[in-house]
Amino acid sequence: MNKFEETLKNYANLAVKVGINIQKGQKLVINSPIECADFVRLIAESAYAEGAKDVYVEWHDEKMTLLRYMNAPMEVFQNFPTWKADGFNQMAEEGAGFISIAASNPELLKDVDPKKVAENNKASSIAMKKFREYSMNNKVAWCVVSVPTNDWATKVFPDLPEEEAVEKLWKAIFMTVRMDQEDPIKAWEEHLRNTENRVKFLNEKAFKTLHYTSSNGTDVVVELPKGHIWAGGGEYNTKDVFFVANMPTEEVFTMPKKTGVNGVVVSTKPLNYGGNLINNFKLTFKDGKVVDFEAEEGYETLKHLLDTDEGAKYLGEVALVQYDSPISNSNILFYNTLFDENASCHFAFGAAYPTCIKGGSEMDEKEREAHGVNTSLTHVDFMVGSSDLNIVGETPSGEKIQVFKDGNWAF
Ligand code: ZN
Ligand code: ZN
Repeated sequence: MNKFEETLKNYANLAVKVGINIQKGQKLVINSPIECADFVRLIAESAYAEGAKDVYVEWHDEKMTLLRYMNAPMEVFQNFPTWKADGFNQMAEEGAGFISIAASNPELLKDVDPKKVAENNKASSIAMKKFREYSMNNKVAWCVVSVPTNDWATKVFPDLPEEEAVEKLWKAIFMTVRMDQEDPIKAWEEHLRNTENRVKFLNEKAFKTLHYTSSNGTDVVVELPKGHIWAGGGEYNTKDVFFVANMPTEEVFTMPKKTGVNGVVVSTKPLNYGGNLINNFKLTFKDGKVVDFEAEEGYETLKHLLDTDEGAKYLGEVALVQYDSPISNSNILFYNTLFDENASCHFAFGAAYPTCIKGGSEMDEKEREAHGVNTSLTHVDFMVGSSDLNIVGETPSGEKIQVFKDGNWAF
């Protein structure tokens, strides 16, 4: 085994042991592009070695996806197959773990009718609603990791020949998931501990509001609901198994009060939304709702995203990531939210994680609404962090505390 193969094997182990934390007799579902088959087999091998009962793979082929969009009629995209959603629900009920490999070509659908894409996103969100409840409430263990594909790598490094671009993207990914450290599992334990300390501090302060300002024009006050909970690093699922949902992960996050966001937010990184880019956009919020927006690139895509449903026009996540994170310092624009969100403070359009408020997982939709929890068919992160972002928190007693100074943690 050469050095690369060995690192790859360890990376697969990391996803299985730290990411999902697979339990004896558990099933594992892997969502993956066909290009990543070698890596998927390593994950399966590792999962079986750890006692998994079965590994099921849901394969995707981007070339087929594109063919379908170019040729199939609109109605195909308005009807998500129920058998597929049922299958995921069944696996979740059986307590399976879910690994997704995020490796999409950010420009795959640039020549496709955006209406088709929007209809497809909407239909799949509706069909997968029950399954999303499982993952967003931590009723299952899930984990997102990445592997380079040729199309993605050449978008990230357009000046390099394909082979070199893939190699460079591998290197970047390995760095962000700490595979370049001598003992990656130990490095993760330490990283998770540091994150835990930040989470503790924020939960103790129980900020009423966070005020964001930046020279790019961002000036927004975000109210946090009573009983909000900050989370980050790893989480316990409802079966008390500790798992890490994103690898890499640098964020500490909670939910905003649905109707408590006022001001202007300016994006700082392009957003890859379902195969299309939205870039340089600006949102104006009033009482939580986007009342005005502009975008230099992808205006139509942004419009469709906001039109998904009423909740898509409101925020569901407030995440803090320091500007000097390993991912951010790599100065690579990944065009992949898994990486770009972990290089930058971000918000999310749409649904909040019910686990981010006391008792949230037991609330029905009506109760969530009453507590300021946003519900929506969608949840899409977008990046707002910059090198001069300042965030000042106000505690319930009116004390003002600097949380971020010049893009980094102030404490
Ligand atoms: Zn996030
Ligand atoms: Zn998110």
